[in-house]
Amino acid sequence: MTQVPGGVPDVFLSGLSPGEIDEALGYSGGFRSSQIYGWIAKGAGDFASMTNLPAVERERLASVYGSLRSSKVNAELADEDGSLKLQIRLRDGSAVECVLLEDIEGRKTACLSSQVGCPMGCTFCRTGRLGFLRNLGADEILEQYYFLKERRGFISNVVFMGMGEPLLNLGAVRKAITLLSDRAGIGMSLRKITISTCGIVPGILDLAAKGPKVRLAVSLTAADDALRSELMPVNKTWGLDVLKESLLAYQKVTEERITIEAVITGNRNGSAEAARNLASWIRPLNAQINIIAWNVVPGMDFTEPSKAQMRAFAEILKGSDITVVQRMHRGRGVMGACGQLGDTLRADQEIPTSASVAQA
Ligand code: SF4
Repeated sequence: MTQVPGGVPDVFLSGLSPGEIDEALGYSGGFRSSQIYGWIAKGAGDFASMTNLPAVERERLASVYGSLRSSKVNAELADEDGSLKLQIRLRDGSAVECVLLEDIEGRKTACLSSQVGCPMGCTFCRTGRLGFLRNLGADEILEQYYFLKERRGFISNVVFMGMGEPLLNLGAVRKAITLLSDRAGIGMSLRKITISTCGIVPGILDLAAKGPKVRLAVSLTAADDALRSELMPVNKTWGLDVLKESLLAYQKVTEERITIEAVITGNRNGSAEAARNLASWIRPLNAQINIIAWNVVPGMDFTEPSKAQMRAFAEILKGSDITVVQRMHRGRGVMGACGQLGDTLRADQEIPTSASVAQA
């Protein structure tokens, strides 16, 4: 941990390995740092709760370093469907959001952000409208997990599907995954961790070459270059052919099924032809497709698909022997569903209340 004038640390313990904690706190031998690391992984929010450390050491750490965590929860919104959205205020005053989604079987998935805002500009996504402010550190990513766990208990899965494009912040995301999956720490299986990308080909190839072997999800949305470029500008840099090659390379290494995601709008990519294009693009891959009805963002020029349209779309995919999952609208009531994150970026903006979300 490095000190800056005024005594506030600029690297926080929640993103460090035991060896790094050793170095940051000036310990030697690893015993004390392993104790602290163990407490952080269990979700300790301050030095005072680390009861197997001598009281004098806890007091010293608290007085020298102040806070254990770099960020704090600024606001929380609970949806009727059980989802919970947190707005997290970061150390520089900017903000991100994270969401806890609970499925009907009780599985709890933490949807974490990797950037403040997002530079990718997908036209159907609220976060994409905000632009990009900065990358998050591993500490800021993991603290989202800890805040959600504090409120909802055991978390079974983590998805990097919140604000930002995780493969553009791969260093910090990798570090966070290393700590999430460390058996001496949180101990989550890599199979329970998913990185969702809009299709950053160099990042996919880097992940294939160097790991970690997490599950990969790719937001495809359309399998026609012109339409996809219109909806997802990333396609102008890495088109559908080069994207597919990178996914085949990833699959060769991991031998895991990839999840293809498609946000379906009523008026742009919800036609039978769009479904047939998706089916033929996906077929060479070992992949399942999650189709998600576009979650309404006020002011965007899209329409919500009807239930009948979604059913017909799914039938075409299934008719091509593709496994289709229709994702539910979890978190919608608090603007916490897919593509809806991004109320705030900066300290001078406030998160809307449940009432203002309902009016929007
Ligand atoms: S969909 Fe993902 S990659 Fe695209 S703008 Fe939104 S957050 Fe960024």
